[in-house]
Amino acid sequence: MLFSKLNCVVKYDEPLKNHTTFQIGGKCIALIEPKKVEDIIEAIKICRENNLKFFVIGNGSNLLVPDDGYNGVIIKIKSEFSNIQVEGECLIAHSGAKLSEVYTVAYENSLTRFEFASGIPGTIGGAIFMNAGAYGGEMKDIVESVEVLDLDNYEVKELKNEELDFSYRKSIIQRKNYIVLTIKLKLKKGNKEEIKAVYEDLREKRNSKQPLNFGSAGSTFKRPEGHFASKLIEDAGLKGYHINDAWVSEKHSGFIINKGNASYKEVMELIEYVQKVVFEKFEVKLETEVRILKD
Ligand code: FAD
Repeated sequence: MLFSKLNCVVKYDEPLKNHTTFQIGGKCIALIEPKKVEDIIEAIKICRENNLKFFVIGNGSNLLVPDDGYNGVIIKIKSEFSNIQVEGECLIAHSGAKLSEVYTVAYENSLTRFEFASGIPGTIGGAIFMNAGAYGGEMKDIVESVEVLDLDNYEVKELKNEELDFSYRKSIIQRKNYIVLTIKLKLKKGNKEEIKAVYEDLREKRNSKQPLNFGSAGSTFKRPEGHFASKLIEDAGLKGYHINDAWVSEKHSGFIINKGNASYKEVMELIEYVQKVVFEKFEVKLETEVRILKD
């Protein structure tokens, strides 16, 4: 087998619907779950020697994958690469740590400033890639530095916050051949009770406003300048509009959800339809926030 010399989990012909929160997506050639940097480098070298494409994912919570899958290798950086450590007011996490796990460690160490991210269902590596944010905070505000693997020369280098070129749902990682390895956050000593109270409040807000009992990738569209995507979609009369099991959520019209067996094709049709109607009515272009994994 192609990846037999790797000392980590390799799943061949793995359905990607098992690895995306949309619960949509066909098979890939192999899915690799690296435990250390050397596994990532080794896996990529094997892909390159065999002319195989590869793509890195975290928790697949911002990802839409075609029904016929991905004709390449998926490198899934999640639980196997998720160590978290605290040094004074800094928290250092491997990129596969889930944001909820990072929150727990921050809370246990009375560290504040991470509460805004606690309910985002991704890994911290994916959150750096996306400059994920919620409730007035974003990763940009708390990142001190990030270690990346440069895929042009397999070197590990450190990028300071200023070098990450963060802006709304953007970071330099989207433009470079980098894999995020380790993240250093600059947090602050706080009061445990207050940290928990903020966390509970935000959790309650998410539960009451978001359709968390269905598959989705969160907000389907970015916030267009001067508007809210969900308001435009609702005002266009599209709340509850659906193509088979792909729905514009009735609870939050900024979310396209999978109510059962929605396919990639149906979700894409729905995305394009929403974009078309909103543009016709309000002359606002909705750009997708969800990343689409194309062959
Ligand atoms: P994935 O979806 O696996 O990947 C996303 C992108 O990041 C891909 O292009 C992938 O190649 C890249 N990537 C992932 N890991 C790495 C790595 N280690 N190195 C390099 N590139 C990498 N987002 C928000 O910003 N705010 C919210 O409030 C929010 N709420 C959500 C609510 C729900 C219910 C859901 C399902 C999603 C929500 N999201 C939200 C979207 C999503 O959780 C975030 O974008 C998250 O940061 C994605 O992380 P991930 O690990 O799942 O990344």
